[in-house]
Amino acid sequence: MQGDSERSGTGVIDHLSKAFQNGLVNSAFDRDVQRRDDPDWVVQQLNDVNSRFIPVWRQKNLIDVDEMKAMALSPTDIAQPETLLDSTVLLGSHERRTYFAFFMDENCDPIGEKFLHTDATFEDLRRVGPMLDDWDASLLAYAKGICFWHERHRFCGVCGSPTVSSKAGHLRRCADSVCGASHFPRTDPAIIVLVHCEEHCLLGRQGRWPEGVYSTLAGFVEPGESAEQAVLREVWEETGIRIEQMWYQSSQPWPFPSSLMLGFEAQARFDNICRNDDELEDARWFTREQVIDALADRGALRLPPQFSISRRLIEGWCR
Ligand SMILES: [Zn+2]
Repeated sequence: MQGDSERSGTGVIDHLSKAFQNGLVNSAFDRDVQRRDDPDWVVQQLNDVNSRFIPVWRQKNLIDVDEMKAMALSPTDIAQPETLLDSTVLLGSHERRTYFAFFMDENCDPIGEKFLHTDATFEDLRRVGPMLDDWDASLLAYAKGICFWHERHRFCGVCGSPTVSSKAGHLRRCADSVCGASHFPRTDPAIIVLVHCEEHCLLGRQGRWPEGVYSTLAGFVEPGESAEQAVLREVWEETGIRIEQMWYQSSQPWPFPSSLMLGFEAQARFDNICRNDDELEDARWFTREQVIDALADRGALRLPPQFSISRRLIEGWCR
């Protein structure tokens, strides 16, 4: 029973098992943290034919669209394997196979110029993610997230000098001998919340979304603010609704481009909606019946994709 597995003997929510149910979260992958400081081992793995490389180019992932599978290349699939040393990130291992992200120069044409020996194409994970299996989607999300960070930290934020990759790609160090600042991978915390009041829940939509799609409310946590305060503020800004209680549920990496979604459920009063900013095109209270219909692909309301924590929060409320 779903409900039983979510609660321990003390009656509290088991956030870990909830997080493992979220898309883009891989519970079986070993990040090999200790190996990041072992450059000899890393070089050995870069040349090992059993190792696999997950290319990322212009924030897109390499996909075999016929099979709808992530492409994990071997060193022999890469035309210039000597380039791997400076442009890979050790992701980790699974079943004795080591995986690397391979960030490719955005100005090149990796397939047209035959840097990669493959017929696959680079696709947007946000689009193809719902069609991939969980293992592929989570591996691509990890590779995409860390490659985006590399792309945006090629220069030191302290002195402006170039930075170089270190610790198997988990650190960039300023090349200036005086500055030498260390830059670690970052993610941006954001809250996402399913607000409800008895038989209604509060969903909003952005103008650029496909017609009929409504989702849970979300926004970035600001400096000097707790995640819980961000929930109160975002819900009020986007809908004018005041939260009375909230519960943390679980989190999900969301590399579009670099967020960590902190999922909450909140209870509010059933008041009129008044949008205080223009972030949303529309926000509405939906009945539980409308949402159950939408989960079954009935009615006009459309919900966010299966692999999103937003969908999980909505499904959890409908149970
Ligand atoms: Zn510097």
